[in-house]
Amino acid sequence: MTDADANVTRPQGPAGDPVCWLDRVCDACGAFVEGVDATPCWNCGAVADSGR
Ligand SMILES: [Zn+2]
Repeated sequence: MTDADANVTRPQGPAGDPVCWLDRVCDACGAFVEGVDATPCWNCGAVADSGR
């Protein structure tokens, strides 16, 4: 069990943002990145590493 898992499993949130979006938000700059895993961020060029 990790802090990240506990955060993702929250059914409701104060921000009201869909949890599914969190997986596509750049971890570096917070930009919304459309595409599959390992797609470079259009804003900062960072590549999200989903533990692979
Ligand atoms: Zn970015």
